[in-house]
Amino acid sequence: MAKINEIRCIRTRADGTWLIVKVLTDQPGLYGIGSASDHYQAGVVQAAIEQHMAPRLIGREAGHIEDIWQSSLTSGYWRNGSILNTAIAGVDMALWDIKGKEAGMPVYQLLGGPCRSAVACYAHAGGNTLEELVEDVQRYIDEGWPVIRCQFGPYGGGGFIPHDQAIKPRNAWHQGPVFDDEAYLENIPKMFEYLRNKLGFGPKLTHDVHEHLKPHNAVALAKLLEPYRLFFLEDLLSPEQVQWYRLVRQQCTTPQAMGELFVNPHEYVPLITERLIDYVRIRISKGGGITPCRKVAALCEIFGVQTAWQEGGDNDPVNQMAAAHLDLASYSFGIQEENHFRPEELELFPGHAEQVGGYMYANDKPGLGMDLDEEKARKLLSTESLATPKYITEDRRADGSVVRP
Ligand SMILES: [Mg+2]
Repeated sequence: MAKINEIRCIRTRADGTWLIVKVLTDQPGLYGIGSASDHYQAGVVQAAIEQHMAPRLIGREAGHIEDIWQSSLTSGYWRNGSILNTAIAGVDMALWDIKGKEAGMPVYQLLGGPCRSAVACYAHAGGNTLEELVEDVQRYIDEGWPVIRCQFGPYGGGGFIPHDQAIKPRNAWHQGPVFDDEAYLENIPKMFEYLRNKLGFGPKLTHDVHEHLKPHNAVALAKLLEPYRLFFLEDLLSPEQVQWYRLVRQQCTTPQAMGELFVNPHEYVPLITERLIDYVRIRISKGGGITPCRKVAALCEIFGVQTAWQEGGDNDPVNQMAAAHLDLASYSFGIQEENHFRPEELELFPGHAEQVGGYMYANDKPGLGMDLDEEKARKLLSTESLATPKYITEDRRADGSVVRP
């Protein structure tokens, strides 16, 4: 059996937001990689791994994945949370990678074997006008994407009123466009009316609210969108307001997807067991890795809920591959959010998942089936960008109060 010899953190992508964990063992050439990326706090996660996790794990059996996960969760007494979960996930994925290599099997085989041949994904379509949007959706339909997310303009788009048209106080803090719930309730149903008129009901369409609405308006939106038969409506509510899903359920049949901000089972277990959402969208790394997320997938199966693991623009190819293994082996799989990378980014990861049309494919190599070229990872990184703090854009209402993303 292999013992953990070293845990190394590698920062890459040009802006340094990708944090890849490499767990090396005492067996020559036997190591695994995992994803601990965090677009905004990669350095904080890195410190958690290097200063808190690694000293405790060096010398332990690499094959004791469950025990390492359980004991890491409580190793600092306080548990869960975005930082600790991501740190644990990076190590956890690397340990599954090692176990697969030891067994000579891909991780999806260790999880019970594939129950589908490929992973259906949803694409991100967008446009600043309805004409632009329908063109983009049509492009994805032509490329063979089974499900397409439709967004109007930027993050929160459809709800913005230009600065000079908004009713603002005379001491307004905010000089940009303001987010307005009523504008969103007006524009997004119109957007789907337009799309359905142009495209019919054949294409499977979703929309991401990015939690921008106040809860009662969120319920109203779900009801207003019912006639357009969405594949799902994403992040209708913020994690603090998930109790409102009960009201959504009472009001309409619009399918609900939520979870990319979840970092604690208390947030998602009741939604699954009470069947208040239809798709759970935890990011594998933010959920704590393959070990807890395979249990979430099993829980979903029992309650008829499906998985739609989060990906999106800032994730790395290792997290994407971890999702692909779970997708292939989980009966509760529903759909996978797509992710795409620049050619020079994919070059860092020989064996990375293949995205062809609307489907993603893993490979039959042992472990996660991919590697990290550390030399190329180092070359891609800009140290200046690495040192620049990163924050999410602040959307604000007319009175200046911040909108939760
Ligand atoms: Mg989202």
